[in-house]
Amino acid sequence: MLIFACLQCVPIGPPGGGPDPYHTYVRQSIRSVQPTMQAGAVQLAGVVSDGGSSGGTSLSSMLRQVNLTVDMVRKGTYGRKSARSMRPRYITIHSTQNYTAGAERHSVALKRGALRTGQRPGYLIWHFTVEDRMAIQHMPTSEQGIHADFDGPGNRSSIGIEMCEHRGNNRSSTTERTAKLTAVLMKKNGISLRNVVPHYHWPRKGKTPANKNCPHFLLDGGRPGAKWRVFLSRVNYYYRRIDS
Ligand SMILES: [Zn+2]
Repeated sequence: MLIFACLQCVPIGPPGGGPDPYHTYVRQSIRSVQPTMQAGAVQLAGVVSDGGSSGGTSLSSMLRQVNLTVDMVRKGTYGRKSARSMRPRYITIHSTQNYTAGAERHSVALKRGALRTGQRPGYLIWHFTVEDRMAIQHMPTSEQGIHADFDGPGNRSSIGIEMCEHRGNNRSSTTERTAKLTAVLMKKNGISLRNVVPHYHWPRKGKTPANKNCPHFLLDGGRPGAKWRVFLSRVNYYYRRIDS
């Protein structure tokens, strides 16, 4: 089996065909946060207030809502061969641009070493893959992944989350589940909202363009804009709901 993750330059599958449910979702969400935005609460670098009350959900309850399965790549193999330790300071959001494989197929591919980088050490790996109904963890968050920028700070200091895009997968549900998982990871690791970044944030040395259009459906014209701010507002919403 050969499947591609978002680090690859050329995605497989139909480019951008079909309706995009997230666009509808974004319009609704923008409307719902509009009063807050008008009140000046939305600032640079994703410091977003949802204007709602905080608290109400335990960390474990939020994690249950994520519906996370742990299915680790075996330590010492493929992407976990070097098993370099990491203290996560960022969370990097990707989308797979793979229109045929969901979370389970990505998990199997990672465990079999089917996803190659074309560079040393040769295998892609990231921490979580999320689809509309569940999420899978592939490696501990205390280990560096290979998903963002080769030997750059994105790989050295960030937890990598891939959102699935296979046919039949609901994009809005996937994005919401990702927002919940991100909120849990922020809480667990003491990561602030300004350190929740799109893959775009990390320039890739030697690549043109250096800043990848990823996750493409949360960017505007290939850059973080209104859609990304809406995503951050959803992350912040769930983060604030978690009891400290
Ligand atoms: Zn990416």
